[in-house]
Amino acid sequence: MTHVKTDPDAGEITATYDAVIVGAGFAGMYMLHKLRGLGFSARVYDAAGGVGGTWYWNRYPGARCDVKSVDYSFSFDPELEQEWEWSEKYATQPEILRYANHVADRYELWPDMQFDTRIESSRWDGSRWIVTTDQGDVISAQHVVMAVGTLSTPKLPEVPGIDTFTGAKYQTSKWPHEGVGFTGQRVAVIGTGSSAIQSIPIIAAQAAHTTVFQRTPNFSMPAGNRPLDGSEKEIKSRYRDYRQAAKESFFGVPIAGDTVSAFTVSEEERNRTFQAGWDDGNLVGLIGAYDDILYDKGANDFAADFIRNKIRETVEDPDVAETLCPFNHPVGTKRPCLDTNYYATFNRPNVDLVDLRKTPITEITRTGVRTTAGDIDVDAIVFATGFDAMTGSLVAVDVEGVGGATLREAWTDGPQTYLGVAIAGFPNFYAVTGPQSPSVLSNMMVSIEQHVDWIADAMTYLRDHGLTTIEATPEAQEAWVAHSNELAEETLYPLANSWYMGANVPGKPRVFLPYIGGCGVYRDRCNEVAANDYDGFKLA
Ligand code: FAD
Ligand code: NAP
Repeated sequence: MTHVKTDPDAGEITATYDAVIVGAGFAGMYMLHKLRGLGFSARVYDAAGGVGGTWYWNRYPGARCDVKSVDYSFSFDPELEQEWEWSEKYATQPEILRYANHVADRYELWPDMQFDTRIESSRWDGSRWIVTTDQGDVISAQHVVMAVGTLSTPKLPEVPGIDTFTGAKYQTSKWPHEGVGFTGQRVAVIGTGSSAIQSIPIIAAQAAHTTVFQRTPNFSMPAGNRPLDGSEKEIKSRYRDYRQAAKESFFGVPIAGDTVSAFTVSEEERNRTFQAGWDDGNLVGLIGAYDDILYDKGANDFAADFIRNKIRETVEDPDVAETLCPFNHPVGTKRPCLDTNYYATFNRPNVDLVDLRKTPITEITRTGVRTTAGDIDVDAIVFATGFDAMTGSLVAVDVEGVGGATLREAWTDGPQTYLGVAIAGFPNFYAVTGPQSPSVLSNMMVSIEQHVDWIADAMTYLRDHGLTTIEATPEAQEAWVAHSNELAEETLYPLANSWYMGANVPGKPRVFLPYIGGCGVYRDRCNEVAANDYDGFKLA
């Protein structure tokens, strides 16, 4: 650590780096590896006690990826991808966390990472960032890389009385490391998003009784998870081409062949195609089956009806089945889910479903959950109620850019970025998989690697050209935001009250947060900007 000078606002500077990296998830780890390899000094800070980000925090029963393991992994080092063996089609949280730790070991990242340390503020002093932590560090850095995650600020529901409950309370996103046993207990699960849909079957199999509180039913498809029996070896034998196809694809996962409109084929053929997607057990099997599913309500209805019929075939009680059928949003416009026995779980005699659209929660009491229909007493409540997605962890840090302007104020009407990675008024400040980039609409590993590479290239360009700052121009940013919004308006996404739209957080502006142009197109655009000497950026 170098003691350089005193910052009048933050105190004595305790360390100086080329880059501060906030977050030790996959984004932060790869950013550190990449920058060190290029000769930059960098340090990672994370509030967590270890690496892995999402996979450090979300240890709830059933947690696993829903992008195939062979896709949901780093591609930057062919040796790493060859030596690591995934054991299941969709790896579990412990296995993914082991992978994250393996990456940290393999590339000896540990000495340059600091844990149990939250970044509290980042202030531009005219030439560098002064970054402070809750542990008293005051760091001077030329660049700040926010690898803070898009689903990393957990959210409890806005219901009164949560603190009064005397039983056990859990959040899927802050699950105890020692695990939780539910044997013999009456358990409430609030929420029916991906986290709930993965955990409910396992909780229900263990608990004496499980009550699921559902506000919005979700579309879920069977994961068809299985041990990997060597089939991934074939992919590994052509990993470079496979990864390239992922990079050029729409969602960051390679899909065979071109698609056509759902209206150009017969009902029989459509259902055969949907069935094949359903049987293959992947997120894009249905929504990617035809090129208008996410754009045309009629086309979308074909896929939605297919899934609703599957729910009705699976769930024995017709009323419960109907309650589980989503009707208020097109399939895909809220993040779809992959499950193992989710719908069948409602055939268990020890599982109840409460429809919060009919009987909303009024409060959490000392003994359980109160709805307008009465009290349900439980021993434990599991909150699977999501995140302040995409912007939450960015605005949680007190970021002050040029002239003291704050990021929070700059984003009052919703996030404003150039390419989803840079922000006008905030030089040398980067958001990995930030809003208005493909991010959460994609296989995140593909998007993380692309952003990290792009940021590292930009920093190298500055260094090589004797420059010190790169800052998005307001004009380029405005045009990018408008372009991103226009693309979203052409889709069905704005029809849903989703976290993609910021709808799950009271008071959050309703704007479509990610970029829906597709990973390949987006990558080309970013490369083009870089090739044109960082078109749309002010370099100094
Ligand atoms: P994260 O993994 O979220 O890491 C960010 C880190 O930053 C966290 O450790 C956090 O503690 C730290 N941090 C944030 N703010 C601060 C601060 N101010 N100071 C210090 N530290 C800070 N994506 C997929 O593509 N496929 C999947 O199958 C998939 N499954 C998922 C399952 C779950 C349960 C969740 C919640 C998300 C899933 N995602 C999935 C998205 C997932 O978040 C990304 O795939 C990926 O792990 C994100 O990595 P990251 O490094 O960008 O962010
Ligand atoms: P989520 O999708 O936002 O789901 C939160 C759930 O809580 C929703 O059902 C929501 O209902 C409900 N809820 C919120 N506030 C409520 C309230 N006041 N009363 C009643 N219900 C309330 O969150 P998540 O399940 O944690 O998933 C977030 C994202 O993380 C996913 O979309 C996905 O991208 C990722 N993820 C992936 C996996 C995986 O399979 N690999 C697993 C978990 C998470 P409404 O819909 O009505 O708001």
